[in-house]
Amino acid sequence: MTRINEHYQKLQAGYLFPEIGRRVAAFAKANPDAPLIRLGIGDVTEPLAPAIVSAMRDAVDELGTPDGFRGYPPDRGYDFLLDAIAEHDYAARGVELSSDEIFVSDGSKCDSGNIQEIFGSECKFAVTDPVYPVYVDTNVMAGRTGEAQSDGRYAGITYIAATEANGFAPGPPDQRVDLVYLCSPNNPTGTVADRNVLEQWVGWARSNDAILIFDAAYEAFITDPALPHSIFEIPGARECAIEMRSFSKRAGFTGVRCAYTVIPKELTGTLPNGERSSIHSQWARRQATKFNGVSYPVQRAAAAVYTPEGKKQTGEQVAFYMENARRLREGLSSAGFTVFGGVHAPYIWMRTPEGLGSWEFFDRLLSESHVVGTPGAGFGPSGEGYFRLSAFNSRENVDDALERVKTAFGS
Ligand SMILES: *Cc1c(COP(=O)(O)O)cnc(C)c1O
Repeated sequence: MTRINEHYQKLQAGYLFPEIGRRVAAFAKANPDAPLIRLGIGDVTEPLAPAIVSAMRDAVDELGTPDGFRGYPPDRGYDFLLDAIAEHDYAARGVELSSDEIFVSDGSKCDSGNIQEIFGSECKFAVTDPVYPVYVDTNVMAGRTGEAQSDGRYAGITYIAATEANGFAPGPPDQRVDLVYLCSPNNPTGTVADRNVLEQWVGWARSNDAILIFDAAYEAFITDPALPHSIFEIPGARECAIEMRSFSKRAGFTGVRCAYTVIPKELTGTLPNGERSSIHSQWARRQATKFNGVSYPVQRAAAAVYTPEGKKQTGEQVAFYMENARRLREGLSSAGFTVFGGVHAPYIWMRTPEGLGSWEFFDRLLSESHVVGTPGAGFGPSGEGYFRLSAFNSRENVDDALERVKTAFGS
């Protein structure tokens, strides 16, 4: 008899995106001619920028030559990429990082899901609610929570409500926890934490000896240069934070796969005997044991994001999505909807109209407007009454979806 990991049984049936997929498939089967527009799952739609394609192609050609062939990549990534990240993503904003504090990976989903395993199983953690489901589910699988309760919350997790009252950027909780997952600019609410909020978090983490796991997957979508792009722009964050970034949304790498995690050397946790121990070494050990690196062509492609052409081309793509977001935000609000986000992130977080529950609105939008979005309740109990629309689509589809929503539900 082979026992399976019973913690998986605690995961709530019908994880959000499969459930959406099931409902959309059923609708499409019954209505094969309905012209669906999908603004649901946050996946990019624009093709890879030419600078990225040509860097990847050159790297493939290199691998096909005796001199250019390479085998396993270095554990943490090639120096050409680590140095480009340290220079362009950090030094350019006044943050000094050593390039050996950066770990290149195949995605922030994996990094944000895997990071929990280097911490003790008794560690208490907090998430903001609504939340990117990966942070919660990976801790459930690891046995760090109790069962799901009737309100959708798992026992043992501290949920910090992100609400209209706190601008969807809540500050620290009253009680102590060991780890906190923060995502800014935020998926799903499309809002961003400002310097003041991040300073509160860093101050709290330092005085509570806690660690912040800061997911900055949407950093490139910040449009106000005064807003921090990195938690490490906040003094003291090197002693209390880990940061994750991804090329997925900023450069269209959702299918190519490349991201990175930054762990400063100063960051420590405690051993059972109370001694401090390096988190950087712990993650380095984890990666060296379980991960064999990102392919050379992909790392060359990622490095091309930092070339002048790469910056320009990917910057234009980000601006294109943000123009979609602007149209959605302004169009919906002028039609009488209450909308948030969409200024520093490619997501619109709208209040559902007419007091509809978020799944009810999902079903009506699908059947009446043939538009697919994401019900806020799928991201956590505080998402009930809200709905997420993604700006990742063609201009035509975004404009069309907007008109349909306005016609069916606008005032
Ligand atoms: C899309 C996304 C990521 C990126 O995941 P990858 O695995 O790098 O594609 C990370 N965090 C959040 C919140 C996201 O929405």
